[in-house]
Amino acid sequence: MTERSKGLGTRLTHGGRDPSRQYGAVNPPVVRASTVVFETVEAFERTRDHRQGSDRFGYGRFGTITTASLESLASDLEGAADSFLVSSGLAAITTALLAVLKAGDHLLMVDCAYLPTRTFCQRVLIPMGVEVDYVPSDSGGEIEARFKDNTKAIFLESPGSLTFEMQDLRAIAALAKPRGIVTLTDNTWASPLGCRPLSLGIDISLHAATKHFVGHSDAMLGIICCNEATLTPVHRMAQALGQAAGSEEAYLGQRGARTLEVRLARASESALRICQWLQDRPEVARVLYPPLPSDPGHALWQRDFNGACGLFSVVLAEGYEKPAVAAMLEGYDLFSIGASWGGYESLVRTETPVRTARTWTDPGQIVRYSIGLEDCDDLLADLESGFQRLKTQAEGEL
Ligand SMILES: *Cc1c(COP(=O)(O)O)cnc(C)c1O
Repeated sequence: MTERSKGLGTRLTHGGRDPSRQYGAVNPPVVRASTVVFETVEAFERTRDHRQGSDRFGYGRFGTITTASLESLASDLEGAADSFLVSSGLAAITTALLAVLKAGDHLLMVDCAYLPTRTFCQRVLIPMGVEVDYVPSDSGGEIEARFKDNTKAIFLESPGSLTFEMQDLRAIAALAKPRGIVTLTDNTWASPLGCRPLSLGIDISLHAATKHFVGHSDAMLGIICCNEATLTPVHRMAQALGQAAGSEEAYLGQRGARTLEVRLARASESALRICQWLQDRPEVARVLYPPLPSDPGHALWQRDFNGACGLFSVVLAEGYEKPAVAAMLEGYDLFSIGASWGGYESLVRTETPVRTARTWTDPGQIVRYSIGLEDCDDLLADLESGFQRLKTQAEGEL
């Protein structure tokens, strides 16, 4: 049986580890290294980078057995030519963008991108001379009208992580490729289990591994998954920037990956049930979750994705203001208030979309939920009690 023909669960279980090379231990070792030593001057001078054929990892910053373990697993899952571990999800995004852009180039950036991705454009790319244009969050083939002679890259995030608009990755990649425009997508929401962007024609798939891969809210990690055409510039830029992931973080990322499929299945199942329940609540104007048939991105999600996760937002009905929303969130028993998501525990936070291409028009407050592995009935009861606080507080204000 070839690697490719094995099922997902099998690949997640066995990929990126080899007990016969790990002193028999099931898991790869956490190799802590800066210096790596050599027997001869010749071996030291020849090549010190395992990616360029050396039999050892030449220096801590180039990687370790531990980082290579997760890199090879991620490449297998994404169908990537190579993957690079970096210190955070944001570092994956910024390293990849710097690898494919230079002064004078034009970047199309999706409007619903993770806010720090937009901030990187404002604080780094634009000052260094890259032209940045924002395109609507539901972009597809019509994005072609925005291409310029100097367009070099298109950055997507489908679905957007706050508001969950879907872009047509396949249509955009098909238009970009013949023009030599590099396409990148932040694939954190779907994970490689829910979407394999490279198989849709995208060049670079990015992960905040902090979320689903690590899965236990205890490490920061990013992964850049590249096709053949982009792996050299990305590798060079990661090295030039001094990007390196810690061994402990890499270990936690590969360990989390072993249970990714079962965690995502559980969280998605609960999330869908909760979203269906939320849709019918009078306190809710709209639920933003592509797996819901009523979601504007549902058809694209169904066509190109194999799964989902536990992250979605709701737009509350008009008239509930900040104090009422705060009362709802602060009284939850199981949902903690906090940034990040994709851990085993449920989280909630408030959101304010930032938009350039198209103004966000929904008047209601936005609340984002990350559904964890608790029992769904308990989460529903917690949400129900939250709506009581929301209404009581709102009535008190009148
Ligand atoms: C959290 C997040 C990131 C950034 O990841 P960090 O590891 O926190 O730097 C990037 N993209 C999306 C969609 C995220 O949710």
